[in-house]
Amino acid sequence: MNTTPKQFAVIGHPVNHSLSPHIHLLFAGQFNIPLNYDRLDIEREELLSQLEQFKSQRFSGLNVTLPLKHDAYLLCQSLSDKAKLTESVNTISIRDNQLFGDTTDGIGLIRDLISKGVKLKNTRSLLVGAGGAANAVMADLIKGRPSTLYLTNRTIEKSMLMESHWSDFAKNHSVTLKVADINDREQGPYDVIINATSAGFTSELSPLPDGVISNNTICYDMIYGRETPFIRQAIEHKATWHDGLGMLIEQAAESFRIWHDKTPDTSTIKGDLALLKLI
Ligand code: NAP
Repeated sequence: MNTTPKQFAVIGHPVNHSLSPHIHLLFAGQFNIPLNYDRLDIEREELLSQLEQFKSQRFSGLNVTLPLKHDAYLLCQSLSDKAKLTESVNTISIRDNQLFGDTTDGIGLIRDLISKGVKLKNTRSLLVGAGGAANAVMADLIKGRPSTLYLTNRTIEKSMLMESHWSDFAKNHSVTLKVADINDREQGPYDVIINATSAGFTSELSPLPDGVISNNTICYDMIYGRETPFIRQAIEHKATWHDGLGMLIEQAAESFRIWHDKTPDTSTIKGDLALLKLI
């Protein structure tokens, strides 16, 4: 057995608080796989030259986070079907001096929803946001077969672009896609709302008006580690709510599977991170 640790890293800007190294080391421990996993702060302008260096430094894989996922998609030599569809890469495998790009955010979200008993099928669901994270989960959200998937965003033109990009894929899965004004209360309440905005970091206000959440709505915020205004709004409406920690763990598990061909047990990771006082 080769015991030389393989080299991995998460790249993005900022990355200093990323939990990915801890999560991957916990997974590696489950299989006694020796590996090193760094956090490397890289800005967009440096990405091309840094990727060349990672190849020469014999890195085996990279996780890619904000704001580099679309640039990584443009720079990989080969892409999974889902990375092509979503135009987003969060997992790079480096083999034979080539970069293979994949995206695991969508599967991470769906697996977390499933583990929490949230069903998308035949629901009226709302996706809030039109940035990298919203686009990255679209293929898997549509495959979850909500009857209607509403798209909304502060800059509504971006939701319109998303609708046109995804309309054929949605039709092929018998899902109706509709753009909703972010302040429109009339379409609500929704069965499931997924907040894929970064508003929870930058604003004291929820991106959504009251009236779109009822006590039967499932509210999911991709942000984790803080009570966002959207989560507070869900609590005020006595709705069920979840943060994005489970998605983070599940997307990491799928990256781990791609790199090591082994499926880690994710059920213990939240407890392990808490024991390590990381969450
Ligand atoms: P992004 O590409 O920068 O997009 C940000 C989105 O948030 C845009 O739709 C933007 O609207 C919206 N937004 C920002 N501030 C807002 C405000 N005050 N009110 C309403 N909308 C606002 O970022 P991203 O990559 O999509 O990431 C979004 C969030 O998801 C981040 O917080 C990230 O940490 C989280 N995330 C979590 C996971 C996980 O595994 N849990 C994975 C991926 C991402 P405009 O278009 O109008 O600017």
